[in-house]
Amino acid sequence: MNDANMPWFHGKITREEAESLLTPREDGLFLVRESTNFPGDYALCVCFNGRVEHYRVIYKDNKLTIDDEEYFDTLGQLIEHYCLDADGLCTMLRDPVVKLVNNSINNSTSNAVASSLLLDPKAFEAAGWVIRMNDLKLGEVLGKGEFGDVHLGSLHGQKVAVKKLKDSNSKAAQDFLTEASLMSSLRHDNLVQLLGVVFDGPSICFVTEYMAKGSLVDYLRSRGRLHVTSKDQIAFAADTCAGMAYLESKHVIHRDLAARNVLISEEGVAKVCDFGLAKDQTLGLDGGKFPIKWTAPEALRYAKFSNKSDMWSFGILLWEIYSFGRVPYPRIPLAEVVKYVERGYRMEAPEGCPIEIYDIMKQAWKIDAEERPTFASISIKLDHLRANTS
Ligand code: ADP
Ligand code: MG
Repeated sequence: MNDANMPWFHGKITREEAESLLTPREDGLFLVRESTNFPGDYALCVCFNGRVEHYRVIYKDNKLTIDDEEYFDTLGQLIEHYCLDADGLCTMLRDPVVKLVNNSINNSTSNAVASSLLLDPKAFEAAGWVIRMNDLKLGEVLGKGEFGDVHLGSLHGQKVAVKKLKDSNSKAAQDFLTEASLMSSLRHDNLVQLLGVVFDGPSICFVTEYMAKGSLVDYLRSRGRLHVTSKDQIAFAADTCAGMAYLESKHVIHRDLAARNVLISEEGVAKVCDFGLAKDQTLGLDGGKFPIKWTAPEALRYAKFSNKSDMWSFGILLWEIYSFGRVPYPRIPLAEVVKYVERGYRMEAPEGCPIEIYDIMKQAWKIDAEERPTFASISIKLDHLRANTS
């Protein structure tokens, strides 16, 4: 049952494994697994409204059915049907979680790593996302990431960035590959583009376009008021917002939007990176690295992440841009920030910040998430401001 035509078929995985693969919970994201309770049957697992529904697919008389009304000869036909029409399911099927299981007889270390993760180099390969180590030249370290160092690299003469995962302990590797497989399905001028994945012995590398001017926060801090113009500021804001509006349209939640996760290209274009990381939502809060000052109150308190909690973070990011890279809530101790914010405290406009921009920050920081604007609407405003800024 391991068919290249059924990339959404994950075989014998548990209900819990299915739920962790179905991240982020975009409506219509789905996969099929073998039923554990009813051997011979399957389960169609679909995200809807932030939850996962598990539909039992019954196999009887050589046919497959979910509702005893529609019958199918193959899983492929069943999936095709529900991709066109919800027909009683909570939602129409939209995007599959592609199965990346090791189905090769090659027992090299990289496959061993991948199979322990239920992730398969072959699937990336089939999708054209695998880059051979031999084709890649590694250069200097560009920065340090959560997963490991980021190196400058060269791929067929093109400069690239290579994120190297040193320690392939499974949680980090899983997050890493989840990010990679999500990134491979998204494409926009204001998102850092994934070019491919390298399986090199026990380590995994993640190759993206090279962003010559580094992270936005470093850019703002190193150049400061003297060199960063109003035109640059509005351009960074508008670029970032356009990338986020695209993620919003794809129902992808970033969860860690901040100036450190926006990179600047040689040409000065701002692009969002580190999107869609499968963060453990319950863990974070005391995890030390949790971006408290960037995270919306409802996300901090109830792990309620959404495009609206990203909008809150975007407001903080705007504040970073207009304060030339200062750390938000200067003078307020980290442990006090949530309390202040919930009592209604909001940061003032940075010096010289246009009123229209501060107005967007205030909308982004509405305590009621539903009252915050969409990225789509702010994107239009920022493009307009950009056109009128000299
Ligand atoms: P993490 O989010 O895992 O901590 P990042 O992806 O933010 O790691 O990368 C860490 C640092 O590496 C960035 O701040 C930046 O300086 C550098 N970096 C990352 N990706 C690129 C890239 N594509 N081009 C240039 N520099 C990069
Ligand atoms: Mg980062």
